[in-house]
Amino acid sequence: MVAYEKTICPYCSCGCGIYLVIEDGKIIGQEPQIDHPVNEGGNCPKGHNAYQFLYAEDRLKTPMIRKSNELVECSWDEAFDYITEKLKEAGPNEFGMLTSGKNTNEDAYVLQKFTRVVMGTNNVEYCGRLCHSSSAAGLGPTVGSGVMPISQLDLEKADCILLVGINLKETFPLMYMRALRAKANGAKAIVIDPRKSVTARELSDVHLQLNSGTDVVVINALMKIILDEGLENKEFIGARTVGIEALREHLNSLNLDDLVKTCGVSVRKLKKAAKIFAKAKTGSVLFNQGLNQHITGADGIKALATLALITGQYGRPGTGPSPTRGQVNGEGTGDMGCLNVFYPGFQKVGTAAEPHKKFAELWDVENLPDQPGLPYTKMIQQTKYMWIVGTNPMMAVPDIDNVKKALQSKELLIVQDIFPTETAKLADVVLPASAWVEREGIHAYVDRRVQKINKLLDSPGEAKPDWWIVLQVAERMGYKEQFDFSSPREIFEEIRRVVPPYKGITYERLEETLGGIQWPCPTEEHPGTSTFFTEKFNTPDGLGHLQVVNYIPPAELPDKDYPYILSTGRTIFHYHTGTMSRRTPKLNDEVSSAYFEVNPKDAARQSIKAGTMVTLTSRRGSIEVKAKVTDDVPEGFVFLPFHFSEACANKLTNPVLDPACGMPEYKVCAVKMEVSK
Ligand code: SF4
Repeated sequence: MVAYEKTICPYCSCGCGIYLVIEDGKIIGQEPQIDHPVNEGGNCPKGHNAYQFLYAEDRLKTPMIRKSNELVECSWDEAFDYITEKLKEAGPNEFGMLTSGKNTNEDAYVLQKFTRVVMGTNNVEYCGRLCHSSSAAGLGPTVGSGVMPISQLDLEKADCILLVGINLKETFPLMYMRALRAKANGAKAIVIDPRKSVTARELSDVHLQLNSGTDVVVINALMKIILDEGLENKEFIGARTVGIEALREHLNSLNLDDLVKTCGVSVRKLKKAAKIFAKAKTGSVLFNQGLNQHITGADGIKALATLALITGQYGRPGTGPSPTRGQVNGEGTGDMGCLNVFYPGFQKVGTAAEPHKKFAELWDVENLPDQPGLPYTKMIQQTKYMWIVGTNPMMAVPDIDNVKKALQSKELLIVQDIFPTETAKLADVVLPASAWVEREGIHAYVDRRVQKINKLLDSPGEAKPDWWIVLQVAERMGYKEQFDFSSPREIFEEIRRVVPPYKGITYERLEETLGGIQWPCPTEEHPGTSTFFTEKFNTPDGLGHLQVVNYIPPAELPDKDYPYILSTGRTIFHYHTGTMSRRTPKLNDEVSSAYFEVNPKDAARQSIKAGTMVTLTSRRGSIEVKAKVTDDVPEGFVFLPFHFSEACANKLTNPVLDPACGMPEYKVCAVKMEVSK
């Protein structure tokens, strides 16, 4: 018997609808959903091959414990007893939990609750720390909210699209489709990127090809031109913002020629971009890791939001700077409180008595920790006991050799995942988890669009849903009452009680609503909220706070020993650390191995040809990787996709952090290159 079942793509956070064709409990094919509002019958290469990874031969199917330095299969009971015995020895701040933007909201909720209630610490984080913590740190003080303020569907209403540090075609292909539609309707596109990415080449009317890490300089230059030429939106500034005098004074103190010298973009191009953006009726702004992953990521985002405020590009459908969380549930896992300073619903830990009291009562716990926990990378270095769920820091965190040392030194390292990842190989206990349509739950996609994933398949072997696994340990640790859930639906009902923006969303509504519901949704009758800030911002006074931002250079710039800038990023055919996409035959057929991009002049200087194996070395380590010679990258700059374990980009990257948010500076470090012997 063949059934067509609806679900949502498991890769990026666009949240495209697909049909799975299932026969006798096995997926035999798939089709894009024509009637789904996000993709309207389209899928990108990953979405077109969404299910293949489920059937990879090395799916984890049985729990394992390390004995005599080997991981050996064991029963669930044996694994749980071992974990419980060890965790009972852990002091509160000796434990850390890393969760994933691939967890469902229900999984994420019980994982953070376990950390806070059972382990007595706020040491819970997820990969959002590594890709969008600077969004919250930059947008919070400026407009009061770090999430996408619009619907992705409204991008096509824009008459100007400004893309900052985002290669939209390869990272969010279905949002790119909307940008193309806007272009077809006459919109102009401005791309700020040091690389001539496929997006810069194919979409942009103006490409501001800046020197790496000088985003603040470019944005200050754009704002200076706008104010100097009287292009600002005076009415919006007067009615809805504060801080224009300080901003004007700061920009007056900057010399445009100096800015141009630092960022490497001509005055002509800056003026052209400034005019297009300032005169747009609907200016959409999308940004991503190219802006975020610097020691000044939060500063860059503050400046970008300030640019949007002085031009009045906020509060209407399609307007305003939108952070673009990459993981399928990157938004939802943060919504659920998998961050060291936030309870569920971004209710602040420690500083406000009310959330603390509310959660202590709800969770029936006397000593709910009130001090912020450790951020992601510090947690890896400073805890003794770690539980890592669905994420792969042995590929994803800068300075991998150091990460490995820290993980190997743990008293207990539990890794819960669907494959034997690079991180799982170091674990003391490996727990096999259900994937995607093997469990039920909800995700919140890039524009706060909440959609439901139904359980359509059985898990392989003894693999279990993440929420179920955590509950078994909580019960053995003596917390059965606080974790008395028998299904994701029951967990979601608790979420609805404590996370106000989810209050009006129910499983039933999601099952009936094609394309989901955008939070905040305060009542069961409410349709959801597409556009933020229509009347006021989420700041305490309701106004947009214009920010004065000074340029700080990247922490590690080229010198005579390491003369090139390395930047990392993605390709359309692979996804993050490659755990799923590299187990997908059709995607591997497209790009099967690691490569890096080098400018033809640098290649000639170093005797590198297309396909030459090259050793890239930074102050932290070396990798060997094949060269692709292309003028998509400027001289003095090399680009390395980060999906490939055989040439792990994060062996090279710099672990230095943005002090505002703990974001590592993935996008700039200094390397040298030599033809491999
Ligand atoms: Fe999946 Fe994103 Fe591609 Fe849509 S754009 S098919 S959600 S990977």
